[in-house]
Amino acid sequence: MKSFLKKLAACAGTVLFLLGTAFPTGEILTSHADEPITISYSGFSGSYWSVTNADIQLNFSAMGFYFTAFQADLQNIPANLSGSLEYQIYTEGLGWQNWAEKGTIAGTIENQLPMEAVRMRLTGQLESYYDICYTVFQNGVWTPWITNGNDAGMGGTNVGICGIGVAIIKKPIPTGQRILDPSKPMIALTFDDGPNGAVTDRILQSLEANGGKATFFMVGNRVFGGANTASVQKMAQLGCEVGNHTFDHKTLTKIGSAEVRNQLLKANQTIAAAGGVSPVIMRPPGGAKDASVLSVAGNLNMSTILWSIDTLDWKTRNKQKTIDAVLSRAKDGDIVLMHDLYTTTADAAEVIIPALTARGFQLVTVSELAAYRGGMAPGRSYSSFTGGGTA
Ligand code: ZN
Repeated sequence: MKSFLKKLAACAGTVLFLLGTAFPTGEILTSHADEPITISYSGFSGSYWSVTNADIQLNFSAMGFYFTAFQADLQNIPANLSGSLEYQIYTEGLGWQNWAEKGTIAGTIENQLPMEAVRMRLTGQLESYYDICYTVFQNGVWTPWITNGNDAGMGGTNVGICGIGVAIIKKPIPTGQRILDPSKPMIALTFDDGPNGAVTDRILQSLEANGGKATFFMVGNRVFGGANTASVQKMAQLGCEVGNHTFDHKTLTKIGSAEVRNQLLKANQTIAAAGGVSPVIMRPPGGAKDASVLSVAGNLNMSTILWSIDTLDWKTRNKQKTIDAVLSRAKDGDIVLMHDLYTTTADAAEVIIPALTARGFQLVTVSELAAYRGGMAPGRSYSSFTGGGTA
């Protein structure tokens, strides 16, 4: 009985709110109707769950009762984004309870011990692109909006929570970076063995016309001469990525670590001299790599990039087969191997680039793909970034 009276007294604040005298503070109460991810949540008080609320709506306990349990879940999480929403509550007399997720009940149903504070956080890739924001009604007032794992409400005060509001908000894009949508598919087209004058230029023109970017793993000794230097400069100017494919197209597993280092360094210097940007990624000719090659690259602060779709364009020299190899398999996180040596590859690229764009793919550089799909580290190799890459 004593406990019930205490609840009744403290939750008089609910009445105040309903009369319109209290609102949470902060800048959350803005429209986000185009937000692709939504949240639903509900609190338990007295003997039933509150109606399930979505996004910013404020959720109240039964009149005269504190919330004693809470559950929440996200909807419309894009399939290519890992992670979930986790929540943790502070239960009167027990302290912080275990983290829960995906609609699992946090708190007490039978014992009905009041919730005194709440924490919520996003995990996985969701955490990188969204903020979770929440407020609770305690002791007659709404707290300010709290974000990303911080405490909303006060634990250990013997004052329960009788209102809760939650919202999930997309983080702002850092200035200076290209705006990419992590919820939409991304793919990295890569071209090896160039630059090669007109062929490289046709690919660059198609990328520019479609707002896409690609990565060019170049052979250092091809960079100077003819129209090739201008190609490297145009790549850099368009925001395409310059990659290292060694200076002489050597098979790196056969030449010893000193020469591997020499091949990589010389190519980096030549590419930087031509285009003003030094590569941070390399692709070993023929894909030939071993622990020693990865280690030498790592010492130069470079990651090794392989591929997940091999078009075999060098072998077939066939426009349609090259197109089919990409369009029949393309999926989020793929790295596509082509060669800007052949006219048939330029012919194919002029179809592939608009076709993938029309399908909703963002054509990104390898470094962009890595940044949005799990990251990459020097000294390791990756053949795709479908949610974390590979060792
Ligand atoms: Zn090659």
